[in-house]
Amino acid sequence: MSRESDSPRARLLLTGDELLRGFVQDANSGFVAEQLRDLGIELLDIRIVGDDHREIEAAVAAASSDGETDLLVVTGGLGPTHDDRTSEAVARAAGLQLELDDDALALVESRVRAFGRMRTAEEVETFTPGNRKQATFPAGSTWVDPLGTAPGYAMRCESGLVVVVLPGPPSELRHAWSGIRATRQLTELIARVGERHERLVRVWAVPESRAARLLSELGHEDSPARRLTLCARDGELELSVRGTDARAIDDLVTGLCDGFGDAVFAVDDHRPIAEIVGAELTARGWRLGCAESCTGGMVGAAITAVPGSSEWFVGSLVTYANEAKTAVAHVSKASLAEHGAVSEQVARELADGARVVLNADVAVGITGIAGPGGGSDDKPVGTVHFAVSMRGDTRHRHVRIPGDRATVRRRAVGIALHELRLALGSIR
Ligand code: ATP
Repeated sequence: MSRESDSPRARLLLTGDELLRGFVQDANSGFVAEQLRDLGIELLDIRIVGDDHREIEAAVAAASSDGETDLLVVTGGLGPTHDDRTSEAVARAAGLQLELDDDALALVESRVRAFGRMRTAEEVETFTPGNRKQATFPAGSTWVDPLGTAPGYAMRCESGLVVVVLPGPPSELRHAWSGIRATRQLTELIARVGERHERLVRVWAVPESRAARLLSELGHEDSPARRLTLCARDGELELSVRGTDARAIDDLVTGLCDGFGDAVFAVDDHRPIAEIVGAELTARGWRLGCAESCTGGMVGAAITAVPGSSEWFVGSLVTYANEAKTAVAHVSKASLAEHGAVSEQVARELADGARVVLNADVAVGITGIAGPGGGSDDKPVGTVHFAVSMRGDTRHRHVRIPGDRATVRRRAVGIALHELRLALGSIR
């Protein structure tokens, strides 16, 4: 892989037996990778190791001497228990003393008290040395105010390698990162980032093979001047172009927009589709409703994840059983008997019914077979009907979504929102 100019380079080391054994799914690496990318720091690799201080020590030693790593981010192992030995390992590899910081100790102790811990004498005895350890850092470290009781910190080794150590729990890690960014060690590193530019093109329902063809027609080749990353997410394809040559990047973005045409739904716009649709509804002063069967409220959940969606979203009727479809969304019994619950007719009646019942300007109806059972030759698993009802017009589409139950339901949410976008007219 070619490198992104002379940007600082980082490695990420996630620690924890629970991660290695699959008890806990990693929720930190994506966040750290995104933060580093935003700062213009190139991430070389991500590794997971257990609660093994020798592995951590070896990783710090290797990054110190490989001649290509400027930053090592280590997560986890900052707790008060015996297996939390990250700081000890980092200090040993860096050849630095561990020093107790009185201010950090006072803060950690006040946090422990505030969280109502250390109630019994036994707890006090166990936790006190542990909390002292949490306030102990390799000499010269800059620690940051923790969300919990484990302060993260940044330090520089004699080799020049900057090591950042963050607590493992995801909310604590995110909080610590905001402090770490402002440390002297990080700002010095960020100052070395050269000029860089980034653009984003998002397209809907474009296979990666078509994108690959277009890129080869446009003669694109990755280089530090202009590098492209493709990311497929449930029917959306994101093309992120970044590098040092703003003009070359703009040229590629223009070529992509021309080549993809109407499939482009967002340029330099990172907002989720629910938010993009919400902005369009807000501009029109319209309110949205839904009636969901196979997605069981997941469209409503995606919409209400957008702050301020109460301005434009009335609600979603979860009409799973036929009785609910008739009683709540006013789907006719005759349509259910004649066409079946998973049909164009019922999707249309769900959308029309939701619009009327919820007194909305536009409504989406979804009915499908998420599987694994319930499919037939006629209506295989993955068949989902979508309808968008607006005054005087109800638009329908049916899709066969491949994959397991979770995939069908998740992808149906994206299709519903994009169908709504298309019904509202092209949003750029
Ligand atoms: P603590 O003070 O809570 O012990 P710590 O820095 O020592 O913090 P760890 O002991 O490594 O962190 O992890 C604590 C918990 O945080 C883990 O049991 C796990 O639930 C969660 N955690 C750690 N790393 C990750 C990760 N990469 N993704 C998701 N959760 C994680």
